[in-house]
Amino acid sequence: MKLDQFPPEVQASVIPKIGGKYLYRCLGCGSLFGIEELLYTCPKCDSVLLIEDIQWERLKEIPGEKWRKIFDYRKMSNLPALSGIYLFHELIGSIIPLEDIVYLGEGRTPVVSANATMKEWAGMQFCYKNDGQNPSASFKDRGMASAFSYLNYLINKRGLRDVLAICASTGDTSASAALYASYLCGNVKSAVLLPGGKVTPQQLGQPLGSGARVIEIPGVFDDCMKVVEYLSENFSVALMNSKNAWRILGQESYSYEIAQAFDYEVGGLAVVAPIGNAGNITAIMAGFLKMHDLRIIDSLPALIGVQSEHANPVYLYYLEPEKNRRQFRPVTVRPSVAQAAMIGNPVSMPRVIKLVEQYRKIAGEESVRFVQISEQEIMDSMLFANRNGHIACTQGGECLAGIRKAVAENKIDRNRTAVLDATAHALKFAVFQDKYFMDAFEPEFEIAPKKEMRNAPFSLTLPDSVPSPAGGKLGPEEFQKFVEYTASIIADILELKPLR
Ligand SMILES: *Cc1c(COP(=O)(O)O)cnc(C)c1O
Ligand SMILES: [Zn+2]
Repeated sequence: MKLDQFPPEVQASVIPKIGGKYLYRCLGCGSLFGIEELLYTCPKCDSVLLIEDIQWERLKEIPGEKWRKIFDYRKMSNLPALSGIYLFHELIGSIIPLEDIVYLGEGRTPVVSANATMKEWAGMQFCYKNDGQNPSASFKDRGMASAFSYLNYLINKRGLRDVLAICASTGDTSASAALYASYLCGNVKSAVLLPGGKVTPQQLGQPLGSGARVIEIPGVFDDCMKVVEYLSENFSVALMNSKNAWRILGQESYSYEIAQAFDYEVGGLAVVAPIGNAGNITAIMAGFLKMHDLRIIDSLPALIGVQSEHANPVYLYYLEPEKNRRQFRPVTVRPSVAQAAMIGNPVSMPRVIKLVEQYRKIAGEESVRFVQISEQEIMDSMLFANRNGHIACTQGGECLAGIRKAVAENKIDRNRTAVLDATAHALKFAVFQDKYFMDAFEPEFEIAPKKEMRNAPFSLTLPDSVPSPAGGKLGPEEFQKFVEYTASIIADILELKPLR
């Protein structure tokens, strides 16, 4: 829709105005720092940071109802800069001019309701939000759009040059960072550190295809993270891991999108996410809290964080009910099919602790819950979801296994509608489906394929008497013979009924 066609009362707000004052806030000592320099940890106490708009209160001059109208009408605009996460510009990047925004098609992913079979199986109503339909096929693109838009702003407006964007990754962060860096390739180069042999071939192919320098490191993700942190402390690089608070800011769009998709009535939802480095769950909480603060939503949804038994530090931390007695202990991870969440020492843990406290203060102690599930449950859930019309990755399977567990453990009100994050596309994790179908899991995964869930191609072979097109083009009669024979075999296999 063209600007002059919007109703008069929203016309002036469709194009967001630049405003606000953004600062880094340290979660350890509370200090504030300017954003002109890229900061990842507090120079005073080394804690992680979040970005805060210290002029946030000005946004409250607009009533919640008006905000809803602005966002809903803005959705009808075709401006590329407003077509992704910056639909919510005032909440996540109000200082970034529209011309600096990098939009590659991220955000506003579809919400797909589960069918009746799945609802019965899960024990409650739910839908998947298909984050695999982002440009690099995972939710990480929201955060990268934010981090690279800010980088682009620094390049265009502040003369930042020769940027090397670098990250450690369980696979999807690097795919996403490399994609956004390649769009800005005139000014930005990218390098990614991956744990050797611990990302899927698809995830390795993505940054290679985007032209990034890919470095495989012996070890697991937590080891790569230490190396990349050392690099960012000692060399001039732009760190694209979730220590980069711009990424968290962009990922908040996930909550805004859910609110909008449910007409801002989210009080009856349970929002479910897998936890790895805990950036996603942090952003989800921050997003809902912000919308609540501006009265865009009048109640908060329940939240459920899910972890595999093989990588469960956040789950273990919250097992202790007494707040003052909780102690965070990193865990040594074991192999997990939810490989993107296979993290023993989540970078965003201090953010989680702070935001869970804020969230529970408003929505009650029961509003944020954590469950853990087995590797077997993750695989069975993913496969079952995908047999029922979804495109869930293993982490999406983790979410589904998570609500089944939450229902069984009474950690969720079954009258809620759960919104599960299918955090990446199923195709990225096809290797685990293959392992399941071929019963090829290494024993450490502790996964035994269920017979009824397996699938394999039927390879049709021809007897010598039937001509085969495999050796070259056949004559018309021979070809007909081949078609009839092959069709008869297929009709047998599929138990087809003849027309006459
Ligand atoms: C990164 C990632 C996760 C884990 O998210 P965190 O923000 O690290 O907790 C889960 N699923 C997929 C597909 C991911 O790429
Ligand atoms: Zn500090």
